[in-house]
Amino acid sequence: MSQIVNPSNLEVIAEPTVTPVERIDEVVERATRAQRQWAGLPQRRRIEALRRLAELIRADAETLAQVETANVGKPIGDSRGEVAMVADTFDYYAGAIDKSFGDTIPVDGGLDFTVREPIGVVTVIAPWNFPLVIAAWNIAPALACGNAVIVKPAELTPLSVLELERIFAQVDLPDGLFQVVHGPGSTVGAALTEHPGVGKISFTGSTQTGQTIMRASAGTMKRLTLELGGKSAAVVFADADLERAASASTGAVFGNSGQDCCARSRVLVQRDVYDEFVALFVAATSTFTVGDPLDSTTAMGPLVSAPHLDKVRSFLDPALDIVAPVPGPSGPGHWMAPHLVLDPPREHRIVREEIFGPVVAVLPFDDEQDAIALANDTIFGLSGSIWTRDLGRAIRVARGLESGSISVNSSTSVRLQTPFGGFKQSGFGRELGMAAMDGYTELKNVFISTAE
Ligand code: NAD
Repeated sequence: MSQIVNPSNLEVIAEPTVTPVERIDEVVERATRAQRQWAGLPQRRRIEALRRLAELIRADAETLAQVETANVGKPIGDSRGEVAMVADTFDYYAGAIDKSFGDTIPVDGGLDFTVREPIGVVTVIAPWNFPLVIAAWNIAPALACGNAVIVKPAELTPLSVLELERIFAQVDLPDGLFQVVHGPGSTVGAALTEHPGVGKISFTGSTQTGQTIMRASAGTMKRLTLELGGKSAAVVFADADLERAASASTGAVFGNSGQDCCARSRVLVQRDVYDEFVALFVAATSTFTVGDPLDSTTAMGPLVSAPHLDKVRSFLDPALDIVAPVPGPSGPGHWMAPHLVLDPPREHRIVREEIFGPVVAVLPFDDEQDAIALANDTIFGLSGSIWTRDLGRAIRVARGLESGSISVNSSTSVRLQTPFGGFKQSGFGRELGMAAMDGYTELKNVFISTAE
């Protein structure tokens, strides 16, 4: 058993059973048998199964959202939005099943074509910040491509994925096609990353754990998709709609209490408008309500755990110029207010490391080249925003940023239909869109001789 705690009031809300490591062989064997049956089913049956899952998720959406909010502490409106995306993800990949093709390639002496084959058994190792929706981004395309899926949710936040397992049980699927294992990454997760029967690991989590998983899976040459950390920048030029940029920059870093791999935790502002922007950013943050995640007017809930709260607080170096425009609630719960750190030294850890909490560094820059250099001065490359009214500049800067997902005059990073993933140490492989289908298949080439 492990105790699962609500981070907004510290009540124990569930005690799920930890999967014994000795059971992992059996889990993988069941998945292997189920995968063969699943891949052999008519396309129509697989499409219908994924559509049915989407329907059942919609029917249970409120329960799933309540569970997510209780377990992670995120505002209920956010959880509802994420659950809606989970259902849409199953629908989208149901539709992708009969739209994933190979190529016909002109060659001498025959006909050459490519076809995509399932990998086999896929393990999805999920983080605690978006437990259900990130798992779904991987489960749905993996199944659509004909794989079986084993999910290991983060040990702090397994509840919504365990609910999804209950929903899967209502659909007629090969036994063992979708299984959830619960327990620590260092034991249950590690057993899966080393298992010879697992063909692919889709991991979302910290860069450090991603490196451990790369090393552990090297022995069996597993396919990997790694979605890791970030230190994304919003770049605000003097010609931008500053009010809109300031208002969007609050949600972009304080949303999900800053526990977001795409958080724009660095806001880079052209020096001429730095003071004006900071005043707008502080004013916008002062309307950002921190409190009970079940209250639909709340914009930010607690952090996920006490050790994580301590880690985030450790970034608040008293030597820095720090503004906290709204108080965080007191009482039980891992509460912290949003913090803006003004013009810190570019070498300070607050500018360089992923914080994963409600803390943003606001730095001035001089010109376009300085902005690009500053934005790229990080080991990460996941996301970013550009705020300007100059279209040419928006395109130049977007091309200059070393980052997998960039938005112009917007702080969004993720859309169901478009590829999402990192450059540099933010990982590799792409989730979402049709690009995800490549990550769940092996490309096979077939040559047919036409010789008489
Ligand atoms: P984490 O790396 O601590 O854990 C992620 C998962 O890996 C958990 O399920 C954990 O149990 C498991 N794990 C830990 N050690 C393992 C091991 N040795 N073998 C196998 N599995 C192991 O990450 P976290 O703290 O849950 O999540 C926060 C991190 O995730 C942040 O760095 C954040 O940026 C990143 N993240 C990235 C994305 C993205 O799409 N790029 C999305 C969300 C979160």
